[in-house]
Amino acid sequence: MTKMSKLNQLSTFCVAITVILTANCQDFGYDGAFGPKHWGEQYNSCDGKKQSPINIDLSHVTKWSFPPLIFDRFDMFPESTEIKNNGHTVIVTMNFQEAPKISGGPLNGSYKFSQFHFHWGENDTFGSEDTIDNQSFPVELHMVFFHSKYDSFSEALHYNNGLTVLAFFYYVEGEANKNYKELTKLLRTITEPMQQTLFRTPITMFDLMSSNLNKYYTYFGSLTTPPCSEVVTWIDFAVPIPITPIQIQDFRALNGYHGPIGHNFRPVQPLNDRTVFENVPLSETNTLNQGKHPIPNINTNDIDMDSEEDEEIVPGSIGDIEPVFKDYRKENTASITSIGNICLALTLIAASLF
Ligand SMILES: [Zn+2]
Repeated sequence: MTKMSKLNQLSTFCVAITVILTANCQDFGYDGAFGPKHWGEQYNSCDGKKQSPINIDLSHVTKWSFPPLIFDRFDMFPESTEIKNNGHTVIVTMNFQEAPKISGGPLNGSYKFSQFHFHWGENDTFGSEDTIDNQSFPVELHMVFFHSKYDSFSEALHYNNGLTVLAFFYYVEGEANKNYKELTKLLRTITEPMQQTLFRTPITMFDLMSSNLNKYYTYFGSLTTPPCSEVVTWIDFAVPIPITPIQIQDFRALNGYHGPIGHNFRPVQPLNDRTVFENVPLSETNTLNQGKHPIPNINTNDIDMDSEEDEEIVPGSIGDIEPVFKDYRKENTASITSIGNICLALTLIAASLF
């Protein structure tokens, strides 16, 4: 056998291994054998007790006045903005000299912007992940941030204070939302998986957000896609954003690895013993709790996020406070090191053999 044919055989073998691994690793979907009911078979965390999304039952939320959210650099224009069909959703990354950060509210420390993406459904009556009083919305936007004390999104995934996601809902309106015009138009150019393109007209983060950033619900949960890591402080803004049916249709026209992405929302998960808080802006009340943290005697400013040994904070008297409102300890990373990471490593090894 010639050296060349051996090389060809090796290449074919590597391609086959890469295809198999890629198929196994990336094949989560929203229907049938790849659907949410089966995610736990490969990703243990998807069967956890603090999963997202949830239904927010307004008769069971705990009202609380959090300190104001601080939106740092959300009004800055990025140097470039890339939009990509990743086969599961459309994901937008913005290239900033200095990334926007969010802090305040229920958060301990500040969180750096990573990316945003969307979830939607087959028609305008459903599509959001979280629901409010069992009401679904046609689209949901997730702006994802990781804690500034970590170097990257991937590192932050190993800590239960690793991420915060700002979630926004939409409602259908007849008049086109001009801030979404280019985004929805660009969707038509990236209909196939892994296609990507750049925005021509820059927009800011604020341009895409709700008109009211004071009314929100917050709870501790997980990523809503595998590996379903329970590392997310969710902040769901109550006032939805307008969008037209035609603009929503552009999302549904995207194709995934198994045909059109007609829907990409995970069904709601059990709340279990978690508490959902509703922020009551301080301007609306002087008596509720005056912006103190839900845990008595603990103010977010008191927590030294840089200390090596974070103290555990004992839940307070208002009920079982979730880990989101405790200080955070390093989790057992083994439980989060998912098969996905192993698959990625194997795929990279296979690819490197070329
Ligand atoms: Zn999402």
